Amino acid sequence: MTDDEESRQRFKARVREWAEKLEVEATAIYIRPMRRKWASCSTAGTLSFNDELPSMPRELGDYVIVHELLHFSVPNHGRLWKSLMRAHLGDFERIEGELRKQAGS
Ligand SMILES: [Zn+2]
Repeated sequence: MTDDEESRQRFKARVREWAEKLEVEATAIYIRPMRRKWASCSTAGTLSFNDELPSMPRELGDYVIVHELLHFSVPNHGRLWKSLMRAHLGDFERIEGELRKQAGS
């Protein structure tokens, strides 16, 4: 297994761990090249993640994972979503800022 493949597998395992913790059913997890987006989710429980994420710092990956998984139960970025983000990730707005910097590089 290549390093790249290994980091993808590890990333998928983290998605499954978070899904279990958040009691969300992720039916399929894909990692693929994406432009302008870090991830997307469908109502059928399919999650797609940008293939740059597995090699990025862990907290950035966790931010994107939790962000998407919470959308299964909260479809917007309102007060409830924010309070759940804070409960699981702490200062998620700082991480969001970091992620934005990555996108610009
Ligand atoms: Zn969102």
